[in-house]
Amino acid sequence: MSAELVVRGLVRRFGGTPVLDGVDLAVPAGECVALLGPSGSGKSTVLRLVAGLDTPDAGRVHAGGRDLTGLPPERRGTAMVGQRPRLFPHLSVLDNVAFPLAVAGRRRREARAQAAGHLALVGLADLAARRPATLSGGQEQRVALARALAASPAVLLLDEPFSALDPGVREEMHRLLADLRAAVAPTVLLVTHDRQEATVVADTVAVLLDGRIAQAGPAEELHTRPATLAVSRFLGGAN
Ligand code: ADP
Ligand code: MG
Repeated sequence: MSAELVVRGLVRRFGGTPVLDGVDLAVPAGECVALLGPSGSGKSTVLRLVAGLDTPDAGRVHAGGRDLTGLPPERRGTAMVGQRPRLFPHLSVLDNVAFPLAVAGRRRREARAQAAGHLALVGLADLAARRPATLSGGQEQRVALARALAASPAVLLLDEPFSALDPGVREEMHRLLADLRAAVAPTVLLVTHDRQEATVVADTVAVLLDGRIAQAGPAEELHTRPATLAVSRFLGGAN
């Protein structure tokens, strides 16, 4: 269940100012691209446009050859996980994961069985009956990942999903993401401001500067052969 994600000429203006000014980006099927860029450069905006939570002023989004641009979020085959897990506090862990399946019209028993499988995938089979409030931050984010994967998305969008976690837990999550990719192989677009995370987790990186992808390629290549002074400055800087 994976599909090549292709973003072409994406433009998004807020109050006349273009935040995205022609973003071109491709994530090969089953691969992971890390989207890097300074704070406020428009990384989250890119993800929201791919997910259909916002509408571009120009440009198109394709996945698996299908034009997603005009489609509502639920018909895009995308799922997103942000910095905060946003679980439903009144539902058990299992029912949180089953929720998107129930919304998609699956029978309750079938939805729960499938959700249990996804909970096992993130190593939380034992916590199915718990409420989110009793979980650690890392466990909550595992549930959020299981929930995102429950509907078998072709494209998984991750917006700084590990940045609120302690470094040790973050490393666990990096291993988990590698395991999940091996198990279900979604196409992953990961926004991060952590360049080391980008190198460890992603196949390639793309740097968003001044509304465009300034350079994309293997992390090492960007470091040894930055395309522009701005890329060099960004990768070499403290942020
Ligand atoms: P990043 O995720 O790279 O930090 P964002 O995509 O969140 O950046 O935001 C990029 C810029 O667009 C910021 O200047 C932000 O204030 C602006 N922006 C994002 N969403 C909106 C919105 N709905 N209305 C107005 N401005 C927005
Ligand atoms: Mg952001």
